[in-house]
Amino acid sequence: MILALESSCDETALAVFDPARGLAGEWIHSQIAIHERHGGVVPDLAAREHLRQVAPLLERAQGFWKGSRVSRIAVTRGPGLAACLALGVASAKALALAWKLPLSGVNHLRGHAWSPFIAVHGESPGDFSGRLGGLLPHLGLVVSGGHTLLFCLGADRTISVVASTRDDAAGEALDKGAKLLGLGYPGGPLIEKLALGGRADAYRFPRGIIRKSELSFSFSGLKTSLRYLVEKMPASEVAERRADLCASYQQAVIESLARKTRTALEQGQFRSLGLSGGVANNLRLRETLAAEAVRHRVPFLAARAEHTGDNAGMIGFAAWADPAAAANQGSGLRIEPSLGIEG
Ligand code: AMP
Ligand code: MG
Repeated sequence: MILALESSCDETALAVFDPARGLAGEWIHSQIAIHERHGGVVPDLAAREHLRQVAPLLERAQGFWKGSRVSRIAVTRGPGLAACLALGVASAKALALAWKLPLSGVNHLRGHAWSPFIAVHGESPGDFSGRLGGLLPHLGLVVSGGHTLLFCLGADRTISVVASTRDDAAGEALDKGAKLLGLGYPGGPLIEKLALGGRADAYRFPRGIIRKSELSFSFSGLKTSLRYLVEKMPASEVAERRADLCASYQQAVIESLARKTRTALEQGQFRSLGLSGGVANNLRLRETLAAEAVRHRVPFLAARAEHTGDNAGMIGFAAWADPAAAANQGSGLRIEPSLGIEG
């Protein structure tokens, strides 16, 4: 069994992953209530909260796994906020040292990349390698508050970037859009809720990089065009048309993501399509990408809701499934705040 820790941003999380059974337990403490009033994550407050939460979470989890054997510790080594990563890595090192266990540093982005496969493994743990073989090469879309990228998970389980963003991440575009519309933080779920009562074709926002063959995302133009529009509108009209604005803005983000995913599917030879990261919670995005998968006749694998945002389940799973995370890094493990998915 692998005990995994995640503390890269504003979630303190622990999980126990058993290769023979699947995820045996997951514990998470979300800091949203702390950062909400600041309109975004405050790194110093986040690190202090991790410090406060990590021991009580360990205590809760330990009551659960008592009796079963933990054979390895896994922890997020990056990317993320330096002080937050350091706290997780220091805790994991202390556990590994005290229990004389190997320690694996896991790339957080690779955790997101592997997260849609947690459910595949859970269906028949003994047959995971065989089933995975039939799904590779895999095209995955990771969409979160800090990252937006398409990657290829090859038949040999190596990961390479297919497309990334030139400026903002999709989640960041939604969060900044929500701020311009006077909504709270995080903006993605609020926009999704309001969009349900609005028309997606009420306003026309730009769709990022227009040239079809170009594989990269861009969301800064979209955000700027919302700013110009809102600045020209009387406040009462913004309030009145909020649902239409949310629906149209959300549609532009989803279409930008779907178009580039389609281009990548057309250009490559993929046998499955995946979706993960916090923005993968968005139902409209899930439906749109599921339709792309149907069009290309490949299975669609979306991370389960509990594995979309930051979580330790994906870190424990990637520590086992990703050959890049297999090594014992012991006390030499370092944090890497700006690690890319290929690192
Ligand atoms: P993460 O960076 O993975 O923790 O995910 C957080 C990001 O996901 C934030 O930018 C949120 O606004 C966004 N997000 C969360 N839920 C949704 C949703 N239902 N629709 C759109 N965006 C969402
Ligand atoms: Mg994340």
